[in-house]
Amino acid sequence: MTGQSYSDILTTFREQLVAEDILHEGDSIGTDDETLLRFLRARKFDLTQSKKMFKDCQHWRKTTSDVGIDELYHRMDPFDFPEREVVAECWPMSFHKVRVKQGRPVNIQVFGGMDLNKLYRSCTPERHWESVLVSAECLVREVLPAAARAAGKPIGTGLVIVDLKGFGLGAFWQIKSLVRDCFQISQDYYPETMGQLAVINAPSTFTVIWNAVKPWLAKETVEKVDILGGNYKDVLLSLVDAENLPASLGGTCTCSEFGGCNLSGAGPWQHGRAGWGPKSQAVRGTVNTEQIGDDAEQSRAVSNTADQTGVESS
Ligand SMILES: [Zn+2]
Repeated sequence: MTGQSYSDILTTFREQLVAEDILHEGDSIGTDDETLLRFLRARKFDLTQSKKMFKDCQHWRKTTSDVGIDELYHRMDPFDFPEREVVAECWPMSFHKVRVKQGRPVNIQVFGGMDLNKLYRSCTPERHWESVLVSAECLVREVLPAAARAAGKPIGTGLVIVDLKGFGLGAFWQIKSLVRDCFQISQDYYPETMGQLAVINAPSTFTVIWNAVKPWLAKETVEKVDILGGNYKDVLLSLVDAENLPASLGGTCTCSEFGGCNLSGAGPWQHGRAGWGPKSQAVRGTVNTEQIGDDAEQSRAVSNTADQTGVESS
């Protein structure tokens, strides 16, 4: 398929979404080309299936957690909510800086640190799930647009680093259904946002399983995944500059001024960010929730320069 036909499909997709009352100007799902292209890519540019996916996502966005994702996001700042420290400790999945040359945001998931028993002593499962949702929303609403502004080009995907150090079978059974739910949310409502996945500290058993599973998967999926054992540092340093990689993973970053890399949420998305959580409110003595939508719209306006070919320039 040529670049021209991808562009034509995108144009038709947008026209049909608008005509069928699925997409409206200013919708928080994102109205830019990059957003639409993610849904098209997820359904291999099949218009009917992409449209159904987009429609289902819009419905989910209006109804999730009873209030919808927009209201949830207004209520919970992904970088500033009361339970954030315990969530960062017991469910360590966080955005941390960018993969320098490509400009992709890096998301680090430390599976060995996951401890739901401990987490639920300080945070209800409902609040935790809401934090998972606003974190997923944050990727497309703030993180990717900010990474695109910093890189000066469209950035539609991130690099995910999964650390399996100390992650045993017992822990796997404990978090399995929650992780499955997280994958479902990501695939159905935030499609095609993972550009690359590096699994580090993979035990040899995992490598055996992976080698067996690999032939069943699409080539594009396999190409996104690097399974690394304990000797991962050189590979990670080829993906992320040392200054942007946490010291715990072989880099030099410690984010000591922000309470450590797993809590900092550091990255271009923090530049000039007006948060709306309790800490920001305490600093300002007021909250301006209108700012949230404005920032998102502004971000999208800047990143709305997507490559018409449907291929991310990286
Ligand atoms: Zn750091």
